[in-house]
Amino acid sequence: MQSLEISVRLHTDPDSIKNNSKDYGNLGQEIPSAVLYPSSINDIITLIKLANNLSTPFTIAARGSGHSVRGQASARGGVVVDMKSLRIITGNGIKISRNPDSLGFYADVRGEQRWIDILFATLEHGLAPVSWTDYLHLTVGGTLSNGGISGQSFLHGPQISNVLEMDVITGKGELMTCSKHTNSELFYAVLGGLGQFGVITRARIVLEKAPSRAKWVRLIYNDFSKFTQDQEHLISIANGPNYVEGSLITNHTSPNNWRSSFYSPSHQSKIFSLSRHTQGLLYSLELVKYYDHDHDLDAIDQELESLLKELNYIPGFMFKKDVSFVNFLCRVGSRDSTQSTEEEKIEAHPWLNLFVPKSRVSDFNTGVLLNIIHRCNLISGPILFYPLSRKKWDDRMSAVTPDEDIFYALGLLHTSYMSNESEIFDKVNDEIIEFCEEGGIEVKQYLPHYKSRKDWIKHFGPKWSVFQEMKMKFDPKMILSPGQRIFNLV
Ligand SMILES: Cc1cc2nc3c(=O)[nH]c(=O)nc-3n(C[C@H](O)[C@H](O)[C@H](O)COP(=O)(O)OP(=O)(O)OC[C@H]3O[C@@H](n4cnc5c(N)ncnc54)[C@H](O)[C@@H]3O)c2cc1C
Repeated sequence: MQSLEISVRLHTDPDSIKNNSKDYGNLGQEIPSAVLYPSSINDIITLIKLANNLSTPFTIAARGSGHSVRGQASARGGVVVDMKSLRIITGNGIKISRNPDSLGFYADVRGEQRWIDILFATLEHGLAPVSWTDYLHLTVGGTLSNGGISGQSFLHGPQISNVLEMDVITGKGELMTCSKHTNSELFYAVLGGLGQFGVITRARIVLEKAPSRAKWVRLIYNDFSKFTQDQEHLISIANGPNYVEGSLITNHTSPNNWRSSFYSPSHQSKIFSLSRHTQGLLYSLELVKYYDHDHDLDAIDQELESLLKELNYIPGFMFKKDVSFVNFLCRVGSRDSTQSTEEEKIEAHPWLNLFVPKSRVSDFNTGVLLNIIHRCNLISGPILFYPLSRKKWDDRMSAVTPDEDIFYALGLLHTSYMSNESEIFDKVNDEIIEFCEEGGIEVKQYLPHYKSRKDWIKHFGPKWSVFQEMKMKFDPKMILSPGQRIFNLV
């Protein structure tokens, strides 16, 4: 009976198939047999149970915003679950409560909800989550399956470190509540678990009082070691900034880009002329100090001044803004992968995201940032580089980091416009990974994409056996998120 009910929600029309065959990466197609538009979580439970009952089960992928770039939310020949349809049918429904133990607040949000909607819903109560991504049109299920990192992660940990409880439909079709204390194996497996163990339908997220404003600063360096020393100093001091990131400015990349239009035209030309004169790579450190309307404005300015006094940026190359908290968090505008102008149809995103251990950042700068990225005059798009602190990541979670206290996130966010350009960027990406392998730099991919089981085993390292064990326990028929190509290599 239930399977009859979901059959009306399973669509095989060409538009449904086409819209769920590609993702933001636009690097290829993985064609599903059908798309489920669920009206409730029971529809997802029914679908997963249906697959389990077959001798040859079909695969199932939850698709959040489809902002993966390598087909991770696809299900070739299987069923894609369009999580967005739950959002449309069931509306906002974010519940905010006070935690009786810690007296802090939390929000119960659904897996299909986008962080931008959570921001506005929590702000109505003067509260907000503590850990973000740069871009907020991503879903809770999508970022918790990876990590969810941004400039607040050094302080609060990634988004996966700020979850108190979840409801998950496992690969066997069982709805389970899990937390550190209840079904903890499932809880830790799902956090950074690349969608392998279950579909997240609810997450309980830590909230704090929301600040109202942000002092937002960018500082320019031409010396890599001064840049990283200052970043590491800022993430280690008490009462330091609330946000620290960094990026690269090459001769071929504009200081402003789709990720953020921070600089005025005159500041842009000042930076351009510096980059022409130095002929080298420039590094931009980005920091933010939050404050409230009722804060003493002189005091916040003084706090910022004393932070800046300790830093070694190029004199005269400090740029400041004072913006609302919301405008700061919403600095990266909507980048809908289904937009359909001619340009966007041919735009592809062969991104590479790596975590680099601190002990090798200097070698990484010489070999990768200077010799590969800077010399490759094709690179277009933002290049992020900022430090994270491993003590904010719980090692029991599936997410993988280098084995050092501090590591750096590199985000190489290429955009290719011509049909063969993405292959060129992929060659650059391969060259970077080969350089690290040959030089013994133990990087880990974030939002990983591998082609062989051997590479996955290496990626997970000591966590592989637990990861495999959890798969056997919660999704033994290998039904979920086949597009990650971990257990469903094609
Ligand atoms: C423009 C842009 C900016 C980005 N910025 C950042 C950033 O600042 N920080 C950062 O950390 N990442 C960033 N990302 C990467 C992003 O976090 C991941 O690609 C994330 O997976 C995208 O979320 P999504 O909702 O689109 O997930 P999808 O791409 O739809 O899915 C990703 C994976 O999660 C699984 N999944 C989806 N929903 C669920 C669910 N409810 N339960 C279980 N599994 C599920 C899918 O099956 C798939 O395996 C960015 C990506 C883009 C395109």
